[in-house]
Amino acid sequence: MTPVLVETLAAALICLDPGHGTAPNVGRQLEPIGPGSRELKVKDGGGTVGEAPVALAIARRTRAALLARGFRVALTRERAGYRGGNRERARFCNARGAALMIRIHADGSTDRTQHGVSMLVPARRRGWTDDVYAPSARAGRLVQSELVRATGARDLGIVERADLIGFNWADVPVVLVEAGFLTHRREAALLHSAAYQRRIAQALATAAATFAKPRRP
Ligand SMILES: [Zn+2]
Repeated sequence: MTPVLVETLAAALICLDPGHGTAPNVGRQLEPIGPGSRELKVKDGGGTVGEAPVALAIARRTRAALLARGFRVALTRERAGYRGGNRERARFCNARGAALMIRIHADGSTDRTQHGVSMLVPARRRGWTDDVYAPSARAGRLVQSELVRATGARDLGIVERADLIGFNWADVPVVLVEAGFLTHRREAALLHSAAYQRRIAQALATAAATFAKPRRP
């Protein structure tokens, strides 16, 4: 066995979850917002226009950046037409024992002057997120500061969310990156460019490395 392979096998796994891109008939189905809950939400509200392919492109570049650092990487979806919901995305990352689940999204607003990056993290809820609350908060701070530094985008801060299915079903640390506004002309152009996507990817990989500190030979 080569040293490179040993390192790869020893490395932590980062689970990347490019948002949306769900098959239309599946996206309208309902699922419980957390384990044991009777409150239901649609599996995929669709996101902002053009969000799914941008999220997937950033996820692919982030995978490359993580692999280059010796991480193992899993993607919840590799193409459009995903057949699960956010519960399944979380379970996918749980089942792989991910050191961190990074959900990748882009924002949209009716206010077309709105721009910047924000970070969503789980709110503390007993039985749902209390096990992942603190490490997710730490990961959120690391990822947000690295992202702002690498992109120069406006820092819209960190927001705790109790209503996100992909958080409430997660048993691994989880953050959701809102990488910028596709409704802002200049930021949308950046989000579609390979160079800016690579900057985001490097920022996510750098933050993940600080967070997970994979073992090195
Ligand atoms: Zn989204």
